[in-house]
Amino acid sequence: MSFRDNIRQVVPYVPGEQPKQADVIKLNTNENPYPPSPKVGEALRALDPADFRKYPDPAAGGLVHAIAERYGLRDSEVFVGVGSDDVLAMCFQTFFCSEKPVLFPDITYSFYDVWADLFRIPYERIPLDGSFRIVPEDYEKPNGGVIFPNPNAPTGVLLSLEEVERIVASNPDSVVIVDEAYIDFGGESALPLIRRYQNLVVVQTFSKSRSMAGVRIGFAMADEELIRALENVKYSFNSYTISRPALAVGTASIKDEAYFRDCCRRICATRDETARAMRAMGFSMTDSASNFLFVSYPGIPGGDLFAYLRSKRIYVRWWDKPVIRDYLRITVGTDDEMKTLLAALGEYLKNRGAV
Ligand SMILES: *Cc1c(COP(=O)(O)O)cnc(C)c1O
Repeated sequence: MSFRDNIRQVVPYVPGEQPKQADVIKLNTNENPYPPSPKVGEALRALDPADFRKYPDPAAGGLVHAIAERYGLRDSEVFVGVGSDDVLAMCFQTFFCSEKPVLFPDITYSFYDVWADLFRIPYERIPLDGSFRIVPEDYEKPNGGVIFPNPNAPTGVLLSLEEVERIVASNPDSVVIVDEAYIDFGGESALPLIRRYQNLVVVQTFSKSRSMAGVRIGFAMADEELIRALENVKYSFNSYTISRPALAVGTASIKDEAYFRDCCRRICATRDETARAMRAMGFSMTDSASNFLFVSYPGIPGGDLFAYLRSKRIYVRWWDKPVIRDYLRITVGTDDEMKTLLAALGEYLKNRGAV
């Protein structure tokens, strides 16, 4: 018997690389290429460091209220956390306490199985169909909860609101979590369903569409009974999750609706233009409703493309995993970044004799 027998061994989630050099084109973690709203800078400059000696509001009241107002909800229907990773982890602990398995897609956000293992929650991965689509009927079996991103990651494929509703409606005895990290890039949110389905939780984040991955703010929207349950778990763990600066800049960001809309519109336009150009070069891809493209080139191993782009200081995401091994996930950057990407890919295909 050794102390080592009492040490928890887990296999952690591996986030995309954050390269140290400044001169790389970083298209590997779905960050927004544009800065946050100018109001965020103003809020930051208005902070008084003397206030930092005091704890922040444990309920994050100002931020919760601003989010509730933006989405037409009551404050009691909103919960905020340190990025949606924090909110989702809290959701796993709060809502997935059954002996039955939690269901999620086999190709999806790779944090779900990590949390399930960490919290000792049984789970079952449900295969996507041949075109990387979630099949709603496959979630009509006994379970201890359901979670999926919409649009899904890393595929970018969107379910319609009707399909999401079908999953929620067919699971009245489970909590269904829709992870809407990318919903602002063209999808229809399940938010209007939360008043009709008391088992539905919609989770969103400031990290992608609001250009604030570095601040760490995510939020859940649901019936107030579920929000109260989340709060009770949070207050049993860490009361002060959102710092004073994060409260201030998050509130400023959510109030600048015009900037937010313009930013999302630009990214969608760049995405559609890049997709068109890559298809013309011979790439295959899913129809992405997110701020990334999930692409492959017939006959070229994904790992080769990944290594080549890296040698050109263009970082994208690649998983050495079955089924998706020949795909790259490429974040939509600025128009200039996409131009450089397309030129590099064109060069590669020419040298390889693929065109
Ligand atoms: C990026 C992402 C998140 C987490 O984002 P946070 O930065 O923690 O808010 C959650 N789910 C999916 C599917 C994501 O892609």
